[in-house]
This record gives sequence, structure tokens and C-alpha cells, in this order.
Amino acid sequence: MTSTQHRAKQFQAIKGVRDILPPDTVLWNRVEQTAHEVFSTFGFGEIRLPIFEPTDLFARAVGGETDIVSKEMYTMPDQETAHIYALQRSLVEWDIKSGDFQAAESFQQLAVSLLVFIMRAQQENLVELEEAGLEAVNDLTSAAKELQVLISGRSGSAHAAIWNQVAGLVERIRLASGGLVVGDDLSLRPEATASVCRAYIEHGMQTLPGNVKLYYMGPMFRRERPQKGRYRQFYQIGAEVLGPSDAPGIDAEVIEMLLAFFERLKLKGAVLHINSIGDKNCRPAYVERLRAELQKVREQLGADSQRRIETNPLRVLDSKLEHEQGIIEKLPRIADHLCVECRAHYDEVKRQLVLRGITYQEDWRLVRGLDYYMRTTFEITAPGLGSQNAVCGGGRYDGLVELLGGPATTKGIGFAIGTDRLVLSLQESGAGEVSGGPARSAGGFDVYLAWFGAAAQTAAIGLARRLRDAGFVVELPAVEMKFGKSLGLADRLKARHAVILGEDELAAGVVAVKRLADGTQQKLAEQDLFSYLRAVRNG
Ligand code: AMP
Repeated sequence: MTSTQHRAKQFQAIKGVRDILPPDTVLWNRVEQTAHEVFSTFGFGEIRLPIFEPTDLFARAVGGETDIVSKEMYTMPDQETAHIYALQRSLVEWDIKSGDFQAAESFQQLAVSLLVFIMRAQQENLVELEEAGLEAVNDLTSAAKELQVLISGRSGSAHAAIWNQVAGLVERIRLASGGLVVGDDLSLRPEATASVCRAYIEHGMQTLPGNVKLYYMGPMFRRERPQKGRYRQFYQIGAEVLGPSDAPGIDAEVIEMLLAFFERLKLKGAVLHINSIGDKNCRPAYVERLRAELQKVREQLGADSQRRIETNPLRVLDSKLEHEQGIIEKLPRIADHLCVECRAHYDEVKRQLVLRGITYQEDWRLVRGLDYYMRTTFEITAPGLGSQNAVCGGGRYDGLVELLGGPATTKGIGFAIGTDRLVLSLQESGAGEVSGGPARSAGGFDVYLAWFGAAAQTAAIGLARRLRDAGFVVELPAVEMKFGKSLGLADRLKARHAVILGEDELAAGVVAVKRLADGTQQKLAEQDLFSYLRAVRNG
């Protein structure tokens, strides 16, 4: 069979994942560049984080019960330890029949292989065993040795007599290898706050003066049902403030920065929603009241809300189901159940927002379903996004760093902007115009440099370089074309000018410049060409 008989398989991006193409990428870059500029004026530094982390980090930080962790993460075994897991599984699952010495011998050899792999992984620093792990390895080693001695030393007549001992050792090996944890699963990050906190602790940033202000941008991964504004690989731009102070002025300044960013981008119609969800002193009592009230109306609720009465009653307030709205409106509100400290903190956040001239809408149903979120929560909605109209979510999470093993005194607040949705909203509102960027479909080509003849090509290569050095966008044909075809391509590429370089121009030390909009043409020396193009560029 020749290769032409095969139709090559056509690949497509996987479901919920997409390419972002020019000219959209020009707008993406502008958005990201604006974030760099605005956030740095507030004293935030950029942190670049890994895209995958131990699954456990997200399970602990985001919460094992949440949809994000329980259903939506892309999780994989670490390749380095995958074969160790495979051997462990074989040992645990191998059912050896009574008196089957041959199987017991193979089982013993498998246990030795497992030990060899673990040793090698340790030598290469791929795994680090804690005390319990080391004990399990020691037990495994001695049981495997004893088993080998027993099996190789057995004499024909004593078979039955030693089987019990063999079976006992097999069981010991099985238990020791089953309980041995040598590595962690990995997950693509569904969000970045957990990673920022991990990095804060790992690099001892609590010793830095004041609160630490960090921002990040990049892709996140959640296996959600794709729709407009909801993707499985989506992008976030986020910021976090971590450190000893939880002053309400910090909350307000974080929000101010966010709004300054949106304003710089000319995002229209953004609305700030805020709420306070209390803390561990006052929220549990409120949650219990809410649960009790929800129990009374249980039968009128949908399946999701019914389930959440037990797992996470606050999340019922998130419900968008039409028929639940009337019921939810009558439920007790957290604002009426805040403790004195939380009430004072919330009042001061609002006062600090007013000081900054920021208008807000209070939304008592704005909750975060995670335990460590507390006090201030906020969200920004923008038009043009349909049902997925939140471009940004944020809140205070004073307990998170402690939950991840860091100092208990560390407070935290942050937000994450959905970049895909922000870009969509900018485009829908007409604020996404792209111009001036050095990209072909954005600003278009300043010059299409048509050359004719080998000598002209050499000159054209040099001229193209000097034009590009001066910041002009230049298309230089890679092969020689007939005049008409070459100029036709210049038209189709929507270049502003064709600069023509043939033998005559070369001999005369000039180029012919044709303005493609109206076909006017003139001959210019190189120096004059630059002045002319600069004048056009500066309008
Ligand atoms: P969260 O991390 O869930 O608080 O989300 C913060 C922001 O990220 C939201 O307000 C959205 O703008 C955006 N976002 C979350 N999930 C997705 C997704 N699957 N696709 C696109 N944007 C998302």
C-alpha cells in the first residue's frame, strides 16, 4: 500500500477546548498587557505557577466535596510512579491458591521487583518516603527475604508443613505494599489560588514585610459542560493579597484595582456585587438555620438543591432555577446573622468603597460554597455574555494558608477574572477594536515588498530588514512572482503600500511606491521612503 492510499486522519481540538486566533490574540495581548500595567501600579508582582500540582493540594484547598474537585479535574498518575502503583496493585490483587508454591515464588519475585523500583525512585529523588513509608518498605524487605528462604529451603516432604508460614508471609507482603504511599496523583489546575498559597508557604513569604501582593495569568482546566463563555480550558487573570492584615481597606483596594483595570480596557456596563458571608463564629449557626428552613420546603426544590441541603446549603442560594427563586427569596439572610466583628468589617469595606467613589450592589445571595471563604465576597458581571455573565469572582479566605500548613495568622483575599469572558464582553460592546498592533490581520501590512530578479531580491531582503527595524509591518514574497500576480497578492493581503523593486529601480537607486487604496505611484529614494511611510503612520 502506498501512502497516498491513506486519507490522513484529521485532528480537531478536543471538546470544550479551542484555539484563539489572530486577530483575537491582539486583543488578548492588550488585555494581558493592561493587567501587567495596572496591577504593577498597585504594587503587585507577577507569579508564574505550574500548570499541574499534586491532586491533594486542590482536594484540600478547593474542597473534595466541590464539583470542581469531585467531577471536573483532569487527573493522572505521575508517570514516575505509575509502574510502582501497577506492581502494588498486582501484589494486592494476586489471589494465591493454597499449596501453590510456584505462585508464591513468583509473588516473592514481584515483591522484590517492587522494592527495586522503589529504591531506584528514591535514588533518583522521584519519591520521598515518610516514616510510615520507610517502615512499610522495611517490613516488605524482611518478609520477602524470609519468604525466599522458606521457599528455596523447602524439602519435598515438608511442603504442607510450611505452607501456613508461606501464606502468612504472602499476607504480610500484601499488607505492607498495599499501605505504601509512594507518590501523589497529579491534576491540571482548576484554579490558581491554591497554588499561590502553596508557593507563599513554600518560599517562606510570610517573612516579607507587610502583605504580599501577587498576580498571575494563564490557563485553568475544568471538565464542565461547554457552552458560550464556558470552556474546559479557559483563562484567568487573578490576584491575591496574603499576609498578616485583614484591614477592610485591603478588600476595597483590591476591588478598586479590578475596576481600574476594567476601566482602562473600556469595559462597559460592569456591575460590582458584594456581600459578607460571615466567619467561623457566625456562619455555622446561620447555615443551620438555613438548613432547617430548607428542610421545610424540601419537596418544592429540585434534585440539586435537595442534595445541597445536606452537603452545602449555602450553594442553594446560587440556584438559577426559575421555580426556586420565589422560595429562596423568603429564606433567612446572612446579613441578619453576622457577628459584631463581621458586621463591623463589612460596614467598613462598604465605607472604604465609597471613599474610593465605587458604587456597588449588595447581593445577599452571593456566596462561595467553600469553607475557608469568609466575610467579603464579590463578583463582577458584564453584558453580552448570556447566562455566564460573571467576568470575575473573588473573596476573602483567611483560613486557607493555615489549612495548607502555613502560619495561622495569614489572611488572604483575591479574585479571578475569566479572561475568555472579558474578551467576549469587550468584543460584544465594541471595546475590542484591535488596531496598531504589529499583527497582520490587526494593523495590516504597511508594505508589500515586490521584487523582480535575483539582484533585486538581495536588495529587498536588506530593505525589508531596515523597514522592520523601524517598526513597519512588511511582507516579503519568498519566491519571485510575475508582476501582476505579485501585486494581486498585495491587494488581497490588504497591504497599504506595494514597494516595487526591479532592475530599473535598482539601477536608479530608487523604489516605486504604490498606494494601493487609490493606485497612486511615485519613485522615492530609500531615505524618502522612510520619511513618507513615517508620515503615513503618524496620520
Ligand atoms: P471561579 O474560579 O469559579 O470563582 O471563577 C472565576 C471566574 O472565572 C468566573 O467569574 C468566570 O469568569 C471564569 N470561569 C470560571 N469557569 C470558567 C469556564 N469553565 N470557562 C470560562 N470561564 C470560566
